[in-house]
Amino acid sequence: MAGEWERYLRQQIELGGAEVVLTEAGQRGSGAAGQKTIPAALPRWMSGAPAIPGPGISVQSPEHALLGDDLVSLGTLEEIAERIRTTHCCGLCPNRINAVPGEGSPTAKLFLCGEGPGATEDEQGRPFVGQAGTLLNGILEAIEVPRDSVYITNIVKCRPPQNRKPLPDEIAACIPYLHRQLEIIRPKVILALGSTAAEALLGVRKSLGELRGKVHTYNGIPLIVTYHPAALLRNPNWKKPTWDDVRIARQLLDR
Ligand code: URA
Repeated sequence: MAGEWERYLRQQIELGGAEVVLTEAGQRGSGAAGQKTIPAALPRWMSGAPAIPGPGISVQSPEHALLGDDLVSLGTLEEIAERIRTTHCCGLCPNRINAVPGEGSPTAKLFLCGEGPGATEDEQGRPFVGQAGTLLNGILEAIEVPRDSVYITNIVKCRPPQNRKPLPDEIAACIPYLHRQLEIIRPKVILALGSTAAEALLGVRKSLGELRGKVHTYNGIPLIVTYHPAALLRNPNWKKPTWDDVRIARQLLDR
């Protein structure tokens, strides 16, 4: 599937890339006669990328008091992970094989958030290691962001039965961990994968269509919403809009 994604992206780049013409002096030009076309020093993913859109919803994370003083006392990602692995906070916890706290760099610039672990994640205790994870790896590769440089987690840290959407009370019980992870990492950009992640992070009930295509902010951090990789496996028509969304997030990383 990663190979298929890679092929699709190459096709998009080849079809959608606006020509960039540089003058001999290295300035951007219009391509008029007499000018030499010099390959621009643009990364491949940038070719045909959409402009950064306007602002959307702006939210602040809950006050420390709401997170619980106890959680605020956890100062590292490893301490949070240990707490998640050793406690039960909602009805999902007793049925897990493994909790899936999240993984990645504590200095990540890009923070990705999905919905909740699936079967493979539950078996391994790691996020996005199943089929959707393979697709996500391909996306990260295409925007030249190594997976080990980002942080990846989910709204809920334990697998919902039959991969159903987490219930509101399960989200409410688990989301303080996510707020604390964000507070510790302070990434430059947040990418919400799917409507469950987007709605929970932004504290709204809206469709993905309403949430995509805007730069929301979470505690002042730009937050981009896109399709969940599992949704792309079901509907390949969403690959192109996803490719646009991730390239917006990628440009924000460079800003
Ligand atoms: N789907 C998610 O939302 N998260 C995972 O970790 C895997 C699949």
